[in-house]
Amino acid sequence: MNDQKIYYFDNNATTRVAPEVIDAMVPFLRDYWGNPSSAYAFGNQVAKHIEAARTKVAALINADPKEVVFTSCGTESNNSAIHSALSQNSNKRHVLTTAVEHSANISYGQALQRQGYEVTFLPVDSDGSLDLHLLEKSIRADTAIVSVMWANNETGVLFPVEEIAAICRSKGVLYHTDAVQTPGKLKIDVKSIGADFLSLSAHKLHAPKGIGLLYIKRRTPYHPYVTGGHQERGRRGGTENVASIVGFGRAAELAMEHFREVNTRIRGLRDRLEETILKTVPHTLRNGASEPRLPNTSNIAFDLVEAEAVLMLLDQAGICASSGSACTTGSLEPSHVLTAMGIQPSRAKGCVRLSLGIYNTDEEVDYLLKHLGPVISKLRSSSPSSPVQPPKGKPDLAAKRQAHQKSRSEAAEEMSEASLGG
Ligand code: PLP
Repeated sequence: MNDQKIYYFDNNATTRVAPEVIDAMVPFLRDYWGNPSSAYAFGNQVAKHIEAARTKVAALINADPKEVVFTSCGTESNNSAIHSALSQNSNKRHVLTTAVEHSANISYGQALQRQGYEVTFLPVDSDGSLDLHLLEKSIRADTAIVSVMWANNETGVLFPVEEIAAICRSKGVLYHTDAVQTPGKLKIDVKSIGADFLSLSAHKLHAPKGIGLLYIKRRTPYHPYVTGGHQERGRRGGTENVASIVGFGRAAELAMEHFREVNTRIRGLRDRLEETILKTVPHTLRNGASEPRLPNTSNIAFDLVEAEAVLMLLDQAGICASSGSACTTGSLEPSHVLTAMGIQPSRAKGCVRLSLGIYNTDEEVDYLLKHLGPVISKLRSSSPSSPVQPPKGKPDLAAKRQAHQKSRSEAAEEMSEASLGG
């Protein structure tokens, strides 16, 4: 670890754990570490803190605490909702979702297809929006569940969840929404949305990784995904992650407190950042509709550069951002979200997502703007597809990038060896 200041613009990937959340958690790591299911007081005294946290996260989404099941993450919550719907009725073997969901849905849908289920991935328009008539027409007699996210993690584009829920209700089909990117940014009211299931993940709202929730509307039939003990009223086996649940509860309170700030100050920072980039850096374009959109997210296409190289140079300046691309084992695939929006692979490879959070400041935005323009110019001047050729004697960027990637994979190897005790 080095001590360089971090300029963090990747809050849709994960968020810093808030100091208030750490403070709330520590007693449950250090002092109150008993098992909440134990018969003796040292253990079961902890159970009431789980219930207090449940009440807090339920308040964040305007649910009854009994409608909240703690899970290990957003991925588990999404998988659980779909799994439950398919388990309820063996004649219903069709799932309807979209082509721009998080891989928590895309990969699970593909796994279901391999098991013989039918999964429809609905297309989106060039601005990332969904055709609701097509959605309605695509619901079949054998559709077990419709799973359509609320806010896209790459572009911030919002889908009209209330309208989708109404369509599903009129067709008598269950509706799940992945709301992982929404807490603290949008008002979440499960009663007005009317979805049967809704997923959240704590690490997107300044709580630790490895804890999430699934909202299950009262009286919705439910079949557990993780089967074991009687925890979570029989809906999710496994000893509770007590400290993280308590942290999630505290983070839910903070998300409500910060809602105004995110929708004023942070939205303002995002808009200034985006407008300045689009105005001052040539050949740039915003991906996705401007509104309705998350107040913290901006996804920008920089023509004639590869996002991977942009991120590497930003990283050298201590700036954390991400591309709209999934980087797997060193090979760069264009993002499935941007591809589904009809963005050409060559352009999709030059897209960068900037996602802000409550800890970002004006000075940090200035710092990012100061570095971004020169980074793009430098890369364009050395790009083979650019009309501007690199000046003679300058080091080859592709070689530098390879070296960077190599050192990253070496570091990853070292880390995994260390974690294996090797
Ligand atoms: N859904 C969305 C929209 C996300 O952005 C993420 C995480 O990036 C997930 C689901 C998965 O959440 P988790 O990392 O808790 O499994």
